[in-house]
Amino acid sequence: MTEDTTAEFTRDQLAVETAPLRIRPKVTVACKTDLGRVRENNEDKVEYYIPEDDALLAARGLLFLVCDGMGGHAAGQIASELTCKTFIDVYLHHTAAEAAEAARAAVEAANRFVIDVGRQVPGRQGMGTTLTGLMLVQDRAVTVNLGDSRIYRLRGRDLTRLTVDHTMVEEQVRAGLLKPEQAENHPYSHILARCIGAEDSVNPDIEERDLKAGDIFLLCSDGLTNHVSDDAIAKLLALAPGDAAWKLVSAALVDGGSDNCTVIVVRVDELEDV
Ligand code: CA
Repeated sequence: MTEDTTAEFTRDQLAVETAPLRIRPKVTVACKTDLGRVRENNEDKVEYYIPEDDALLAARGLLFLVCDGMGGHAAGQIASELTCKTFIDVYLHHTAAEAAEAARAAVEAANRFVIDVGRQVPGRQGMGTTLTGLMLVQDRAVTVNLGDSRIYRLRGRDLTRLTVDHTMVEEQVRAGLLKPEQAENHPYSHILARCIGAEDSVNPDIEERDLKAGDIFLLCSDGLTNHVSDDAIAKLLALAPGDAAWKLVSAALVDGGSDNCTVIVVRVDELEDV
């Protein structure tokens, strides 16, 4: 983001009276996105925003996003870009006291925007994107998810997947219609059941968890997880964030790099009492 954009998010413009800042999460962040070895353009988008202003930090926290666009020609790239921008703008400016409520409104706004552009601009019909976000608000971790990008958390040696994939196949597994082993390598495993841009109403998963110093989060597109196992992710995520980001993407490329691959690694170094 440019400095001009950042300057908009000041205390004066935060329309909500919020709880004071009690805890300031201090983090180390690294991200990497790669075209992969097969695709001709990168439809993934990664963004993050760390407020300088204490009131905004207290209400909205640190924000990390990965979007994985889809649609012919440039459409997927536009969908992921529009979604990132709209989500950040609406999330930061929304008047809701709760971060989760602001996140829901931001998802709805991004969905409306992508659908409107898809309907109005020739060549962009049917464009869509996943949206996966992590917000570190004081001592809470809020996650938002639509589609098959993922969030993992490494706490000590325990790797936990914090999101479920919204694919047709996974939803059938959860409904008991398919066995997990039938889902692996299923020919339709990449058809999304839920995403931004598909329907007028969206139903994101929004969850809130505790946050601890030492937690390491990974947001990633399926270009990583199609190639790199959870065991390998756990090992690489324990490295320093910069090394982790590069080595995770390298592992996907070495395994074939069949898709765009994007990661953002967030290590919580300290939860500072204010
Ligand atoms: Ca993808």
